Amino acid sequence: MLKPLSEKQQNPAIMPSIFSLELSDLENWLSEIKEPKFRAAQIYNWLYEKRVTSFEEMTNLPKGLREKLEETYHIHPMKEVARQESSDGTIKFLFELQDGYSIETVLMRHDYGNSVCVTTQVGCRLGCTFCASTLGGLKRNLLAGEIVSQVLQVQRALDGTEERVSSIVIMGIGEPFDNYDGLIKFLKVVNHDKGLNIGARHITVSTSGIVPYIYKFADEGMQINFAVSLHAPNTEIRSKLMPVNRMYPMNELMDSIRYYIKKTGRRVSFEYGLFGGVNDQVEHAEELADLIKSVKCHVNLIPVNYVPERDYVRTPKNQIFKFLETLKKRGVNATLRREQGHDIDAACGQLRAKERQEETR
Ligand code: SAH
Repeated sequence: MLKPLSEKQQNPAIMPSIFSLELSDLENWLSEIKEPKFRAAQIYNWLYEKRVTSFEEMTNLPKGLREKLEETYHIHPMKEVARQESSDGTIKFLFELQDGYSIETVLMRHDYGNSVCVTTQVGCRLGCTFCASTLGGLKRNLLAGEIVSQVLQVQRALDGTEERVSSIVIMGIGEPFDNYDGLIKFLKVVNHDKGLNIGARHITVSTSGIVPYIYKFADEGMQINFAVSLHAPNTEIRSKLMPVNRMYPMNELMDSIRYYIKKTGRRVSFEYGLFGGVNDQVEHAEELADLIKSVKCHVNLIPVNYVPERDYVRTPKNQIFKFLETLKKRGVNATLRREQGHDIDAACGQLRAKERQEETR
């Protein structure tokens, strides 16, 4: 079992975020301080409809309540430290958190709408051998509100244009199931019709395969799209690529996925990175097809993205198509992921947590 996080990683010494609160949490807090419950909906309206950045602006609330909010919760936007725009329209934001750490968030433009790729942790402790996000280890979990704020801030960057955020992928820095409670709160807030009102089917969470939480997530009964980073056709190759597989081997992972499908009636997506010479041969595609043939799923192939500290090589284009065709011939529903934001290091596996706090000390 994954070791519990340290107190500091779990509960950073920062002010709680107002955006971590579900509507019912806000109602409970209001009743604790002897304020009427209906104020919760008013506050939600200011936060998610009007998208104000201070409690002062919530002019239909009594002054005393605004002061109480100010003393108790953090509402200020994260500082935008940098913004890079790709030639394909993708934008990567670098945001600074209350305690000085920085995280990356990506806005992707598709013909069907805009999606935001959010980060769930400062760094990551899983050590996948191909990924930049894990290079500095894990600093801490993000608060649910810090994940919500990423979506809000990207939406603010679009305010004033016709564009809006229409979907969310939880595929930024970190392992969402290693911040399970934060993730679930985040999902409840963005999905709520008085919150950001983003439909569950427009939200995708991706995990590296923390098996106990796959069971737990299946039991939540949410209609969220679910993706698993598989990356290998067998447990030996997977353990070489992803140390998490030594803790939760492939047969246990596949059992949990079968449980998820049975429980939710939904299909899963498998992310399969093609790492030159490691897992990208026709025989790997055949083995993969056999592994998942009885699983209701879709496979997303991702050619490896360049990470300077890692020495994986790209699979040649003709080999990628051979791999794809082999899967299809064997009845697997598979596509090649459209690549975005390469020129600004915003593609899968290229996001990093920045340690500004430690650099400046
Ligand atoms: N920790 C979660 C969420 C990250 S999602 C997870 O593992 O699923 C980011 C996706 O990009 C994952 O599928 C991850 O395995 C993949 N990835 C990481 N580094 C990559 C790289 N260098 N090239 C291509 N994909 C990569």
